[in-house]
Amino acid sequence: MTDRNYLPNSRIEIIDPDFPRGPKPFALFDFDGTVSLIREGWQEVMIPMMVEIIEDYALPEESPQQRYAVVHEFVSFLTGKQTIYQMIRFAEEIASRGGTPLKPLEYKEMYLERLWERIKDRVAGLQQGTLQPADLVVPGALEMLRALRERGVRIFFASGTDEPNVIEEAALLGAAEYAQGDIYGATADLLDCSKAMVIERLIRENDLQGNEFMGVGDGFVEIEETKRVGGVALGVATDEKNRGGLDEWKRERLMRVGADLIIPDFEEYERLIGLLWGEE
Ligand SMILES: [Mg+2]
Repeated sequence: MTDRNYLPNSRIEIIDPDFPRGPKPFALFDFDGTVSLIREGWQEVMIPMMVEIIEDYALPEESPQQRYAVVHEFVSFLTGKQTIYQMIRFAEEIASRGGTPLKPLEYKEMYLERLWERIKDRVAGLQQGTLQPADLVVPGALEMLRALRERGVRIFFASGTDEPNVIEEAALLGAAEYAQGDIYGATADLLDCSKAMVIERLIRENDLQGNEFMGVGDGFVEIEETKRVGGVALGVATDEKNRGGLDEWKRERLMRVGADLIIPDFEEYERLIGLLWGEE
């Protein structure tokens, strides 16, 4: 821990001290795991489902642990992309084992049904007011979004979750108002809505320099795409289960793909913005 470089008296870790400081008129936020905790634990739905199905296509001398590792590896690798990509890869895995897979979309529907069982009480709780947005957001995320809006930052949400769900969940959490319609999720037309496309378009349409743009997320897709256009990448390594604190596994992964800064949550958002803007 001692070799980590924190902004003094904070939990904001500076990975690249030379990241470009200054105002960031545009900010793209990943949604699940970065702002919203509604879908917390989705991996614990997707991975067991796949492991269960793939058991019928076990390779000779393959242990259950090895099968689990195969699934875990590609699910993690594709996290942050639209969900269908994980299902495409899964179908390929079955085919490579000599099986005849269902269509990726059928696996996706199966997964979403199971995931809904896990999250329906959270959504209902928010709708009925028995749960508050603060119960299901990354700590400080809404305050961070508000503070950025107050500085005139245009905020985008981009997610691999189906777009109607992202829009509804952002509204339930009181986050949608900060993005003012700039909310993108997965649609049937895959190529039109990837995070890479959203970032490229906003850079092009607004004639932005990379350093005027920041990407914020807990997955490596948004971090990689942000770095590719020269933006500042803020990694959010929240322990989702405990709704706060640092998830070491996420931190490690975010570091590996080039995050400039890593935070456990947004509670120190004022100092964080000061650091990003070059005021501190
Ligand atoms: Mg995420």
